[in-house]
Amino acid sequence: MTSADKLFARLLKRPTLPAIEASAPLLAQPLGLHLQLDNDGHVLQMAGPLRHSLAQQPPHDQPLPLQRYVLAHSTLTIEGQPGDWQGQSLDLDFLGLADQTLHLRGWVQPWAGGWLLQLMDIGDLLLERHQAHSREECQAVAGQISEHLRACSLSRLPVIVSEQLQTIAQRWHMPCVALALLDEQEEGWQIHRQFSAHDAPQLWQNNQRLGTVLDSLNGSAPQRLAISHGLDEHLRVQDLFGNAEGFAVPYSDDHGVAAWLLCGFYPVHEHAPDLSDRDWLLLVSALAGPLLGRLREQHHHLQLERLESLQVLLGTGWWEAFGASDEILLAPSLAATLHLDSARLTLDDWLLQIHPADREEMRSRLHALQQHDEPLTLCVRLHRCDTEHHPLWYRLQGQAIGTGDSRRLVGFMLDISDIKNQQQHTAAAHARLDNLIASSPAVIYVQRYVEGALHPTFFSASLQPLLGWSLENCDAAALIERVHPEDRDRYFERTRHLLREGSVRARYRLRDSHGDYHWLLDEAKLLRDDLGLPVEAVGLWLDVTEATLAAEQVKQSEERYRMLVEDSPAMICRYHPDLTLSFGNRPLAMYLECEPEQLPGMNLGNWMSDEQREAFLQRLSLLTPEHPVSTAEINLQLPGREHAWWVWSDRGVFDDQGRLLEIQAVGRDNTDVRRSQQQLTQSAKMATLGEMATGLAHEINQPLNVMRMAIVNVLKRLSSGEVQIDYLTDKLNRIDAQVQRAARVVDHMRVFGRRSEIEQHPFNPVDAIEGTLALLAEGMRGKGVELRVSETGFTVQVRGYVDQLEQVLINLMVNARDALLSKQASDREFKPWISVYAERDAQSVRLWVEDNGGGIDPRLLERIFEPFFTTKPVGVGTGLGLSVSYGIVENMGGRLSVSNSVEGARFCIELPVIQDD
Ligand code: ADP
Repeated sequence: MTSADKLFARLLKRPTLPAIEASAPLLAQPLGLHLQLDNDGHVLQMAGPLRHSLAQQPPHDQPLPLQRYVLAHSTLTIEGQPGDWQGQSLDLDFLGLADQTLHLRGWVQPWAGGWLLQLMDIGDLLLERHQAHSREECQAVAGQISEHLRACSLSRLPVIVSEQLQTIAQRWHMPCVALALLDEQEEGWQIHRQFSAHDAPQLWQNNQRLGTVLDSLNGSAPQRLAISHGLDEHLRVQDLFGNAEGFAVPYSDDHGVAAWLLCGFYPVHEHAPDLSDRDWLLLVSALAGPLLGRLREQHHHLQLERLESLQVLLGTGWWEAFGASDEILLAPSLAATLHLDSARLTLDDWLLQIHPADREEMRSRLHALQQHDEPLTLCVRLHRCDTEHHPLWYRLQGQAIGTGDSRRLVGFMLDISDIKNQQQHTAAAHARLDNLIASSPAVIYVQRYVEGALHPTFFSASLQPLLGWSLENCDAAALIERVHPEDRDRYFERTRHLLREGSVRARYRLRDSHGDYHWLLDEAKLLRDDLGLPVEAVGLWLDVTEATLAAEQVKQSEERYRMLVEDSPAMICRYHPDLTLSFGNRPLAMYLECEPEQLPGMNLGNWMSDEQREAFLQRLSLLTPEHPVSTAEINLQLPGREHAWWVWSDRGVFDDQGRLLEIQAVGRDNTDVRRSQQQLTQSAKMATLGEMATGLAHEINQPLNVMRMAIVNVLKRLSSGEVQIDYLTDKLNRIDAQVQRAARVVDHMRVFGRRSEIEQHPFNPVDAIEGTLALLAEGMRGKGVELRVSETGFTVQVRGYVDQLEQVLINLMVNARDALLSKQASDREFKPWISVYAERDAQSVRLWVEDNGGGIDPRLLERIFEPFFTTKPVGVGTGLGLSVSYGIVENMGGRLSVSNSVEGARFCIELPVIQDD
């Protein structure tokens, strides 16, 4: 064994060799440090190269105890005296220069009456041991960290990461530590988790974004960041570490640098001098490796989840078939929607799911894909009896990928039932609409909007039969060319209005293929897109040629009619059932003394008496749709004129329900005719009176005779003085009766001679018979004519003039008397009589005048009512009696007729009875 072997055996604390060579020369070429000690442990001499490294050098004057050279903790090792230390190895730390510590190991042995302490430098050895220890510890921590991270649940992962950071920080005395990860989506760095000691400033936040600042660090080894002023990018890194000393350890995987462990306020050489770069890299990879794995797993999991839910939501799923086998694999969600027990099935089973109508096509298309790589796109129905009416539609797509053994067919099935069913509904609606358009009598058209102009793009089939041209020979220019030249301005305005207002209604003429023009009613609407910009105009043309021409004709005929009405000398007007005028022409206005424009609103009733108005309304009430016309002579009190007679024709206008809407009337003034008629009647009456003068004289003579006789008798009695009161009273009463009788005759003559009243009044025709008899009875009897008058036994009212009816009766009786007297002249035995009687029914009353004068020659019956027809000698007959009588009766709404009875003529006056209601 060499001395060096022994030395190392000692140093390594192997059992030492007890023998020390006493003869070894002190201080000759010593290794390490040799110290000569006295028995009290004072250093007498020093030798060896290490002596120059000691802070304390031996003084010259007085030796110092060994304790003064070593650090405090080493003094314990050397308590007592050198003899006590013998046989053991001594580890002593000396205070070196520049405050360094010198780790030395040695032993004492007796030497030259004292002791020799031989020491070797074991600093390197210790350092290695420390480092090995630290590495072991680091590996243990790393092992724990990665185990924690792998074992925990995903939800606890962030907490666990924080805990691990805390462990690291506490173990290696880091004030702030954080793990930054590369966010692949954002392409930037982010603090994943951070930990800072409670008394340290917080440099970072969880999830804080760092951008690309860490990219500038060299990712191949841990980086120490001393405070320095360098490039911009490094300044930014410096900022990240709060401008203090920092330490950053990278983690790389197959994607490159994926994580950094950042340690803030951390002079790493001070706090972890023993950890090598490799240790740091190991530690970080123990943290970041499993964490990134877990995070990718989580990411993957989320992706899968999303995919799964997307497939379910869309009703879609993938399918896959392997080249050679006929086995199909379906996405689980798809298998579930198809109600399949297993996601793996044979091609035939898969095809069984498809509706027979689509099955063979799918088989063939799959075959084409398999054999010829033809991409597959197909819509198929599912074969399910529960969905017969609403089939489930799937879109099937597929392609081949890979080659050789790894060749697969991959595709998806997408539920498109909604779209497909909607499509079918739309198609059905379209078909219905097309049908409707095609069968419409109107032409439906579409015009596309192009830069402010409208171009025809569609016409319904009805265009051809209507106008004889089609879309092919009709562009925008051709269309305008077909518009009637006079209507083109109208057409352009229609287009402008349509674009401006969004809809239009216009009427213009279009030329058909034969060159004829059609009046078209055009109704169009502008359709706009979502932005409100015009897209197209949709409209229809309705052929209104006939209606337009008819309207034109109506207008023209109305114009002619208007002129006719305006220029007519007759009065023409329209009025409402309440007699309010809605129109009247100039002649009417002239009679009413106003302007035609003032007529509407005036009431015709204003010019009638209450009775006239009542009669007028009564007459209107009888108008019906079947008998809408009624003519009458009406009597009015016009302004400034006594009376006017109008012959007035009314025509009622009725609505669908037969209600009277208005009355159109035409009238002519009949006043003059009426006046002459009245005069004629009057003169006829006077003539009758004159003719009756003899009879009347007799009428008056008779009472005068009776009175004279009475007076003579009374005077006789008076002169004889035998006058009794009773006798006198009797005579005076008789005289009085005769006076009254004469007065009655005279009175009646006065009444009869008067002009007839203007208005007709209701009266009892029996009164007329009585009045006639009052005038004629005495005269008749005087001539030997018997009057047979029957009691009527009823009262009835007719409308007219009592005096005129009386005149008629007088005429008839006088004519009868004449006929009787002329017959009596030839036959003395003849007993003449005149019979007067009346009878009535619901509508009318008939007055009969009959005689036994032999009647009228049947050949003359027709003519006796003619004016001036008479059989009497000149100067006797006027021939007016019956003619006037006829007019009078007719004027009262009645009829005068004649017939021959067995013995003579029989005249009948028939008059309408006034109904009670
Ligand atoms: P006039 O009495 O002046 O001749 P009328 O018109 O009264 O005129 O009569 C016309 C004619 O009718 C008479 O001339 C007469 O011939 C005939 N006539 C009228 N009434 C009778 C009668 N009751 N019997 C026979 N003839 C009559």
